[in-house]
Amino acid sequence: MEILDGKNLSAKIKDDLKSSISSFVKTPVLAVITVGDDEASKIYVNNKKKACEYVGISFLNVCFSENDKEEKIIRKIKSLNKDENINGIIVQLPIPDKFDTDKIINTIDPSKDIDGLTDTMISNLYNGKEGFVPCTPKGIMELLDFYKIKLDGKHVVVVGRSALVGKSAFLECIKRNATCTLCHSKTKNLSDYTKEADVIIVATGKKYLIDKTMIKKGAVIVDVGITRGEDGHIYGDVNPDVDELCSYKTPVPGGVGPMTVVMLLQNTFLAYKKQNGIKDE
Ligand code: NDP
Repeated sequence: MEILDGKNLSAKIKDDLKSSISSFVKTPVLAVITVGDDEASKIYVNNKKKACEYVGISFLNVCFSENDKEEKIIRKIKSLNKDENINGIIVQLPIPDKFDTDKIINTIDPSKDIDGLTDTMISNLYNGKEGFVPCTPKGIMELLDFYKIKLDGKHVVVVGRSALVGKSAFLECIKRNATCTLCHSKTKNLSDYTKEADVIIVATGKKYLIDKTMIKKGAVIVDVGITRGEDGHIYGDVNPDVDELCSYKTPVPGGVGPMTVVMLLQNTFLAYKKQNGIKDE
């Protein structure tokens, strides 16, 4: 079994980005909106901040408390939309239930929606039009490309159907001519599907949901899940016992996670270039 090393590849992409960004006088800027004080979100936002600083992207964290009014958040996003110095805007999810996540996300100007979560960007992704591909599926595709794993004609089973990960990964796989099956919590006999898969992309947040009895020999396993155990360790959705059967696997941590962060940087830089009329190399 070979490891799909996202840590290593993301470090390489970060260095390339750092060198590209350093050739521009004006600095790209990413604005991250946080609402409430979810502990996991704080860690993710801090990782994003460190990664931005490394490559030379300015990082603006706009924090709101759970007690703030939705209108205040909407007003701030509208002013960031208008601000020519801001290239990318993301809302760190999840936000507290009392807020209308859809409404808040859809306030972001699509040209700055580098997470690809506004209805406009989702529709572009669905219709195969140009736009920002959400960072996690984009990172997964980069990782598979780097290891020369082709999806053309392969059977890919995606487990999980969130807009952020599962559904958009499904669309990216179809774009690459895979035959795709999308499974979720209501799927009966999940292993009937996963056992048939050449590639499994699993994003459920259920520790060790997939084990060796559920995969076929030689399968490629992409484990997106992140669950913090009571022991403080981070666990993926895939049981380590698959190692004896699969051909490739992303580790958790060190697989999809670092690729997601680096794709955020890449999308911010892409937005910066588009907004400043700079052609992509
Ligand atoms: P959501 O909670 O939005 O979605 C989880 C999905 O998993 C749902 O579609 C749900 O089905 C499905 N599911 C839950 N239980 C089962 C089950 N027993 N069998 C089959 N499907 C199941 O989570 P996200 O998509 O946002 O994230 C998923 C995981 O990926 C989380 O652990 C998250 O932390 C991690 N993540 C990791 C990232 C990274 O960079 N590595 C980035 C983003 C997320 P249903 O729709 O029916 O409820």
